[in-house]
Formats: sequence, structure tokens, C-alpha cells
Amino acid sequence: KLPDIVNEPMLHYAPGSTERRLLQEALQEIRSQAPYEVPIVIDGEEIKTGHIEEQRVACDHQVVLCRYHNATDPKLVTRAIDGALRAKEAWEAMPVYDRTAIMLRAADLLATKYRYKVMAATMLGQGKNAWQAEIDAAAEACDFLRFNCKFAQEVYAHQPAANTPGTWNHVEYRPLEGFVFAVSPFNFTAIAANLCGAPALMGNVVVWKPSPAATLSNYFIYEILVEAGLPAGVIQFVPGPAAEMAQQVFAHPDFAALHFTGSTHVFKGLWKTIAQNIDSYRSYPRIVGETGGKNFHLIHNSAPVRSTALQTIRAAFEYQGQKCSACSRCYVPASRWPEFKTHLLAEHAKITVGDVNDFSHFMTAVINQVAFDKIKGFIEHARSASDCEIIAGGTYDDSKGYFIQPTVIVTTNPHTKTMVEEIFGPVVTIYVYPDAEWQSTIQMINETGTYGLTGAVFANDRQAVVYATNKLRNTAGNFYINDKCTGAVVGQQSFGGARNSGTNDKAGSSNLLYRFVSPRSVKETF
Ligand code: GLU
Repeated sequence: KLPDIVNEPMLHYAPGSTERRLLQEALQEIRSQAPYEVPIVIDGEEIKTGHIEEQRVACDHQVVLCRYHNATDPKLVTRAIDGALRAKEAWEAMPVYDRTAIMLRAADLLATKYRYKVMAATMLGQGKNAWQAEIDAAAEACDFLRFNCKFAQEVYAHQPAANTPGTWNHVEYRPLEGFVFAVSPFNFTAIAANLCGAPALMGNVVVWKPSPAATLSNYFIYEILVEAGLPAGVIQFVPGPAAEMAQQVFAHPDFAALHFTGSTHVFKGLWKTIAQNIDSYRSYPRIVGETGGKNFHLIHNSAPVRSTALQTIRAAFEYQGQKCSACSRCYVPASRWPEFKTHLLAEHAKITVGDVNDFSHFMTAVINQVAFDKIKGFIEHARSASDCEIIAGGTYDDSKGYFIQPTVIVTTNPHTKTMVEEIFGPVVTIYVYPDAEWQSTIQMINETGTYGLTGAVFANDRQAVVYATNKLRNTAGNFYINDKCTGAVVGQQSFGGARNSGTNDKAGSSNLLYRFVSPRSVKETF
């Protein structure tokens, strides 16, 4: 029986608190050590290729946070795969008890000894303020590591329902035959921990390509897993050029699974490459991906407007709108619009945007120049579009960090560009619908969505709640009633969506773990 698994308690970093001081010291320590040198790690051996790339501080892009060695040489990728396959036999033979112990120990190390270090790397590198870093790099990362152990027990315990007399049936949950390729995103350190941790827990070996924009925090996570007892070769830490690595990995006959979080466009490209190689694989690969979103808040005229406006601000602008789950389109009934707008603008006016070292800021910088330029493009499009009006924000400045003011657009066209395309930045577009068109608005939300990640309905009228919940059943894998559409908690709301948002295998659940096992049914006759 596992020790009790509960969500990692969140710390609050109040002025004068010990945790605030410790986090500030960790930030100071990382700044003084920067630039870190991050190696590739294959079979436990640190490899320095000399092909260096830089990860910079999002809020201050002159500062190099780390210089990492990049696996540009295909021989290194081959070595990582071969080494992982060699490590496989001993790893899958290790009892699940011991694999579990490693993950639980890693979570405890993260929660205690390394909490502030990993948070500080996440804050500086990925541009999270202290609160967002606590949610991600401390709480959620620990939760994934721990709750997966509980979900793994559910998987292994799922056994045949019946035996005819004289026979005994059981299911053996074998790891996949081959290796897993984990490709992790910049926006959650916790997701990176889950993308490699979940398959490894189920007895798989993993070649892990971290995001260039999250290299330092991800390397710290890797070091924690090693300190917790992860044997060499089980997870290979291989920063490298994504496209070239993918070509090589997908050409390998022992490629068994892709575990991916990132953009829809990249995921589809990877899927196509896998399809082209389908004849060369030993088994059909498992393809598990969480991709984009165009998440919505739908407000009914019975909703409490003030709290709804606040939730909308949070869902749209926390972490600069760079959560896959961020709210980027909002539907408000005309009768409540003046009141909603007043509260929204009042909350908006309280937001400050600035450096992560100043804990008072609600928002910091977006991740890099590419993101900055793309988001700027959407804002400028809205500024010149005849069907849009920017009612708040709309300015940006990348002279020091990639800062974009939280931007609210109001449109008369529910199909305008910023209502349908993923922006992945601090921009929300509002469409004011006639109250009488509640039902057709719902139909429109359902039909215009090419994504299906998260969404929320706000209403006091239960009929309205029931109607929206039923009609919008395919538009969001995570659906919220009277709560914002971000902030799924591991163990409470498993996370993922369908349509162009992913394979909906639900991070933070046994569903996900089933994708990384190949069950064998065994029948014995006495
Ligand atoms: N799980 C996060 C949330 O519910 C989002 C994860 C993501 O951005 O991929 O807000």
C-alpha cells in the first residue's frame, strides 16, 4: 500500500515569510551562477559537444541563464537510443515497488531540498512569477510524480473479472517493447516531469528532448530523478535540434511511443513522419500528445458578473496567457456587458507587468522573441480590423524583456481571427451576444472550435448550466462550471482535450499510464 498521496500544499510567499526569503536567495544564487553549463546526459555520462545554444532570461534577454550542449551530431542520438535499450532489461525487471520509490523520493526531494532552486530556474528561464512557479514547478511537478504512483497501482490492479473453474487468468502490464521519445514544452516544468516520469514509472526507457526555453529547470528535474535513484540510461537527457532528432528517432525500428506536449502544427508534423515510417516499426507506436487550445468562457445572463470578470482576467492573463488552457475568447450577454466591462477593466487596471524578481507583478514577460512577434502580430491585426476594438492594453516593449500588456479586444464578429486562432499570449477577445441568442451562441461555439481543450460556463440558472454542459460536450476535455478554464489540479481534474488539442489521454490519470503499457493476458489451466 502506498503512503497517503495528497496534493503538495502550496506555499504563499507573503512578504516577510521564510519561504519568500528562501526563494529570493535561490533567485540570487541562480543569477550569480548564470550562465550555467548544461550537458547532454547519456547512460549517466555528461557529454559536452561544444555545439552550444543559449537559454536566456525572459524578463531580461541580455542575460544568459544557461549554455547547453546540443545533440547536433546524429551519433549522439543513436547512442542515447542504444543506451536506453540496454538499460531497459534491468529497469523493467525492477519491481514496480522500487520504481515507485524512486518517483516518491524524487517528489520529496523536489518539495523540500530543491523546491526553491527549481522554482527560481522556472521563474528566470520560463518567465513565471513566484505564484505561477509554485503552482507549476513545486506543486504540480510533485503531484504528477506522486499521483502517477497511485494511478500505476490502479493499472496493475485492473485484473480479469472472472475465471472458469480450473483456470486462473491474469493480465500482465508489460512496458512497451522499445523506447519512448518524450518532447516537452517550455510552459510547464511539471509537464516535462510527467512526460518522462510517467512512461518511466511504467517500466519504459525514455529519450527526453527538453524545450530549449526550459533547459535549466528541466535539467534540475533530471538531476533530482538521478539523485532519487533513477538508474543510468533509463531517461536520457538530450537537448537537441527538434526536427533532426525527430527524423532520426522515428526512423528507428524500436521507436515505441511519442509523449508530446507542444503546438498542434508540430504534433501533426511528427505524426506524419511516424506514419511514413510505419512499415519499419516492431509495433504500432503509441502517439500521445497534448497540443493547442482556443479556450472559452461563456457567460449567461444569470451569472454573478463581478466574480466572473475576475475569473476571466485570471484565466486570460495568468502566466501571460501561455497555458494551453488559457481563456482567449469570451462570450458575454448584451444585458450584462456594461457591468461586466466595468469589472473587467477595474481588474485589468490592477495588473502590473514586470520582472520576476519583483514579486508584486501579476504578469511577467512572454517566453521569447518569436512568441513576442507572433502575439504582437495578433494585436496589430486587431487594431486595424474594422470588426475589432482594443479596449485595454495593446502595447508591448521588448527592449529589455518580452513584455506585452494584457490586451482585451471586443469584436462584433464571432469568427474574427483573434476569436478562432490560437494566440498563446495575453490577449482575450470578447464577443457580446444578444441574450435571446444564448442557444445559437452555444451552437456557434461548438461549431467554430477546431480545438477542444478547456472551456467554462458561468450561470446561476441551472437550466442554463445543464443546456451548455450538454451542448458543449465535445468542445472541451476540461469543462468548468462557474470556475475559470485554467488550473487543473493533478488528482482532481485529469487534463487533456480532443479535436486539434490532442489525443486526450488525460495527464494525471491512469488513462495516460495505460498508453505506456502493452498488456499480456495470461490464462493458466490447473
Ligand atoms: N494543466 C494546466 C491548466 O489546467 C495547463 C497545462 C498546459 O498548459 O498544457 O491550466
